[in-house]
Amino acid sequence: MHKNFKNIEKTVYGRGSFDMMDEILSAKRKENGKFFLYVVDHYFKDKPLTNRIPAKPEDVIKFIDVDPFEPTTGQIDDLRDEILSSRGLPAGVIGIGGGSIMDIAKAVSLMFTNEGSSTLYQGLNLIKKPGIYHLGVPTISGTGAEVSMTAVLTGPVKKLGLKCEWTVFNQVILDPELIASVPTDKWFYTGMDTYIHCIESENGILNNAYSHAYAEQALKLCQEIYLGEKSGQTAENDDKLMVASLMGGLSLTYSEVGVCHALSYGLSKILGEKHCYANCLAFQHLEDYYKNGVKEFEQMLIKHRIQLPKNISQGWTNEQITAMAEVAYNLPHMWNHAVGTDWKEKISIETIKELYKRF
Ligand code: NAD
Ligand code: ZN
Repeated sequence: MHKNFKNIEKTVYGRGSFDMMDEILSAKRKENGKFFLYVVDHYFKDKPLTNRIPAKPEDVIKFIDVDPFEPTTGQIDDLRDEILSSRGLPAGVIGIGGGSIMDIAKAVSLMFTNEGSSTLYQGLNLIKKPGIYHLGVPTISGTGAEVSMTAVLTGPVKKLGLKCEWTVFNQVILDPELIASVPTDKWFYTGMDTYIHCIESENGILNNAYSHAYAEQALKLCQEIYLGEKSGQTAENDDKLMVASLMGGLSLTYSEVGVCHALSYGLSKILGEKHCYANCLAFQHLEDYYKNGVKEFEQMLIKHRIQLPKNISQGWTNEQITAMAEVAYNLPHMWNHAVGTDWKEKISIETIKELYKRF
């Protein structure tokens, strides 16, 4: 079976393109309750960008602190219930922030029209109705959440996305000026998510000429940004990183992620580690699977003076390691891609526990 995926309907790219939002939204404003819900990373509260949000008096702006935890099903349900009961159905949702805010905007847009808790819809094609119009403005680049067809949510049982065609943004505004303020460590970890997406997409049975073309270009951009002569957080590199993030996301959409993301999901679900940081923690130990990628990643760590902690598994209990291994094992599509259709003959909970013990 071949994948048949929907892309973002409209994309605008360029410095200053944030200011096109008013014009873009004006045609949509007449829909439903005729107001917009803006979900904005709370980093931007009291920052100049907030004054550039083209909100009208009837609009609702919610500043959300994404640092304590990754988006949860409860958070989405509560936000939806609060807005519906106080204001009714918005004309659209606008997300301004990183992967967390992208996922909140995508998820809440779907949950405005799908009854019950978002826990009911964690998985592939479980959503019953299209959501409302949603527009994404990434302010940190790397996860590819701006282009993906999933909104990753942590629920009481699963960390799993609301994954379907309707999840994909109707519109994305890619303005590289917005990522200039990202602190170096987050710039590194989130950018490495793109790098790892590409390495994993390329190394597995689902890779094809289409996913390869995106990964090849995104990898080239990552190499320039993180290893090239002009590497570092410059305007020129921000222009590139925003495109690399998008292309890395498209590459994995047409292929798949692999061992690093499987292990990373275990770290996030059981220990609460953030996605991009968890990927970096895992990737350094995966030379058996991604030899050249891990070597290059180590050079990037050195170049940007990023130190990842060593021997962390010594602080974990056997129960924690088993629980993480179970989370990772239950991502068969990733193992299938990375190891092959006979992956169950090669990978067991024990194999995965041994991988975690390298950490
Ligand atoms: P994030 O949204 O979690 O934000 C990380 C930090 O950067 C926060 O402290 C935030 O306040 C800060 N920040 C954001 N923009 C900034 C700016 N311009 N200046 C200064 N600080 C800024 O970051 P992320 O790494 O992009 O996203 C991680 C989330 O994305 C996780 O919840 C993960 O599950 C999700 N994710 C989703 C997908 C998908 O396809 N939907 C893919 C990968 C990861
Ligand atoms: Zn990722």
